[in-house]
Amino acid sequence: MKTRITDITGTRYPIVQGGMQWVGRAELASAVSNAGALGILTALTQPTPEALMAEIERCRTMTDKPFGVNLTILPTTQPVPYDAYVEVIAESGVKLVETAGRSPAEFIARFKQAGVRIIHKCTAVRHALSAQRAGVDAVSIDGFEAAGHPGEDDIPGMVLIPAAARALDIPILAAGGMATGRSMAAALALGAEGVTMGTRFMLTRESPVHDGIKQALIQGTERDTTLIFRALRNTARVFRNSVSQEVNSRESQPGATFEDIRELVSGARGRVAMESGDVEAGLVWAGMGIGLMDDIPTCAQLVERIVAECRESLARASALTAEGE
Ligand code: NAD
Repeated sequence: MKTRITDITGTRYPIVQGGMQWVGRAELASAVSNAGALGILTALTQPTPEALMAEIERCRTMTDKPFGVNLTILPTTQPVPYDAYVEVIAESGVKLVETAGRSPAEFIARFKQAGVRIIHKCTAVRHALSAQRAGVDAVSIDGFEAAGHPGEDDIPGMVLIPAAARALDIPILAAGGMATGRSMAAALALGAEGVTMGTRFMLTRESPVHDGIKQALIQGTERDTTLIFRALRNTARVFRNSVSQEVNSRESQPGATFEDIRELVSGARGRVAMESGDVEAGLVWAGMGIGLMDDIPTCAQLVERIVAECRESLARASALTAEGE
């Protein structure tokens, strides 16, 4: 498969593993890259910029294929030395960064100087247009179905992807609900040139998450995620559990602030869930696509299956729409 996205990523397939806090480590990123897609290390999963450099080096020992680094710029409970993380990414020799959250404009010149291509993950056409103006190479456009922070506009991929494709000159990756080859075929039909998948890659054998979490998520349906942080305008989609329900309950109290939920939502607590396998131990981030996921394949099995099913789906659509004699 060759699209403008594979020209940027240097991968066999236009499939990117989205950044995921606590999940985007060398085990997963290298397995995704070895499977012919683009693996992504998540910068803020590493406690310091120096630890990120060590993780990049560790990933290099696990794959000789290209991989990237995600840098998310969103509200955090602790200050983050973004400039130092940017410097590590620029100096590491990694060829691609996935930025997410706030505009990456202030870091673009440094990345370009170092020859790092930039894919900016965003949730609205207006943000994508501003990223294009700022000089990013591609955008990954996150529909309302997405895990993590799907923005405040609630536009599902069926409308958001073609709206972005129509408005932008740079190539786009479709994200949010991307779970199968049918999703990928749909994304290509809607004008994307590849897909970004987060939750689907989290539910693979190589993903460094406790099996208890993987099993809980594959048993979930498309109705088992919920939104938090609405009133804070930092909306996030997570797996519905007792912690997310308690967050929703506290958030709905008049005058509620972040301080009322801080101890429930901290990343440190979510990490305990991911590592212990106790799905009730903290927030567990997941997209609506879990309703389409019912197994834990290897990354290689997953990527090959998605590519084959994508081709079959496009052939089926082509046959269905062929002109009659
Ligand atoms: P953290 O422990 O600092 O914060 C936990 C959550 O609370 C995050 O979603 C954060 O955005 C939110 N938050 C923190 N302070 C806030 C405030 N004052 N107002 C509103 N919301 C606030 O973060 P972490 O879990 O260690 O994650 C580190 C980074 O990764 C953060 O930028 C976070 O947003 C991001 N993240 C992204 C995803 C994703 O799927 N896109 C998932 C988890 C975390």
